[in-house]
Amino acid sequence: MNVYDGERIGELLGARGLTAAGEGEDADLVVLNTCHIREKAAEKVYSDIGRLNRKDGSSPMIAVAGCVAQAEGEEISRRAPSVDIVVGPQAYHRLPDLIARAARGEAAVDTDMPAISKFDHLPRRPTQPRPTAFLSVQEGCDKFCTYCVVPYTRGAEISRPWGDIIDEAKALVDGGAREITLLGQNVNAWTSVDDSGRKQGLDGLIRALDALTGLERIRYTTSHPNDMTQGLIDAHADVAALMPYLHLPVQSGSSRMLKAMNRSHSRESYLEIIARVRQARPDIAISGDFIVGFPGESDADFEDTLSIVRETGYAAAFSFKYSPRPGTPAAEMDDQIPAEVMNERLQRLQALLAEQSQAFNAASVGKTCAIMLERTGRKPGQLIGKSPWLQSVHIDGAGHAIGDLVEVELVSAGPNSLAGVKTRKVAA
Ligand code: SAH
Ligand code: SF4
Repeated sequence: MNVYDGERIGELLGARGLTAAGEGEDADLVVLNTCHIREKAAEKVYSDIGRLNRKDGSSPMIAVAGCVAQAEGEEISRRAPSVDIVVGPQAYHRLPDLIARAARGEAAVDTDMPAISKFDHLPRRPTQPRPTAFLSVQEGCDKFCTYCVVPYTRGAEISRPWGDIIDEAKALVDGGAREITLLGQNVNAWTSVDDSGRKQGLDGLIRALDALTGLERIRYTTSHPNDMTQGLIDAHADVAALMPYLHLPVQSGSSRMLKAMNRSHSRESYLEIIARVRQARPDIAISGDFIVGFPGESDADFEDTLSIVRETGYAAAFSFKYSPRPGTPAAEMDDQIPAEVMNERLQRLQALLAEQSQAFNAASVGKTCAIMLERTGRKPGQLIGKSPWLQSVHIDGAGHAIGDLVEVELVSAGPNSLAGVKTRKVAA
């Protein structure tokens, strides 16, 4: 979502006549779009700010945007005086005004969560040269997992209106997008009413987008297990454009830990959802997020995490050491886990997850599938695209261009990508 927000900030400033500085060029304004999810991400901001200071002690105009801005507010400019602007993730449409204020030497801090959404103030999506696009449909979170800052930094759960999303999708497709990834902190909690006043969930939206000519692929992320409706599961069975990939974080395999995390699902209910998803779409690739070392996590709890990984079988995953976040209930809990224990657990978990993703890739060899070419590869003439299961696949790109959907046979698997051989061109 930060990538999406960054693009929209760029478009907003572009519409006001600013142009992007080239790599390594001295910029007049630098916008740091920040993440507060774990301490490491949040601390990185301050080293980035430090690097922007010039030798003579001056600096470009610096705007800190995103969730660190929301969480720390004006404290940021106290700690880093070269920061001129602080703007939260729901207020960045006001950046032009904040820049004008900062240029006048006035304070420019805006961490409001205005009732009228920023989306109503942003310019229409421009033509974009890439075939894949992100589209935020839902923001914020009401789930309040005890470790997580998102409900505080992104605010309450909101769903963008049906018509706005369809319009933005059309603009993206008109501009050249052939694949759209719908984004939300809880994307599958998205709900709105369609043009005829009927209540719709994410599955209804996906079905409407499927009808757009020129849109070949639809993905969505991130989903919460509790909002995994049967309608959405069914969409995986019968919407051809909906790719067979589901990112469904579980965090822990121990129901006791899940309760302490306030996840409101259990190990069993998660596994039951995975079984229904696989019934609907047997070849679906499942990915997940994991936290090790949540306060009070015992060896047995951690073993439960390893065993849910074995039972589920992940194609890909993100795993993290628990990071205590200011203002969250878990940060105040007893039984914080020592760093060495967390490190050891993370290593064991990551080794198992790496083994699984390699096994998933190896099992794909011999399959024929379409890949959407997205970028050039490292070797001359090589083009890289994504398989339906979100694997990177490189092919000899002769006769093809970025944006082509090409049918390939997957012929070999490396640790991070697969090699494909063209069978025939599916669509140009
Ligand atoms: N809404 C999504 C994920 C949002 S945050 C969900 O509920 O699944 C992305 C991931 O960061 C989470 O899934 C979690 O694994 C991780 N995360 C969030 N807070 C964390 C913390 N305090 N320490 C470590 N990892 C954390
Ligand atoms: Fe954070 Fe996701 Fe839990 Fe919401 S559901 S509080 S975003 S981890």
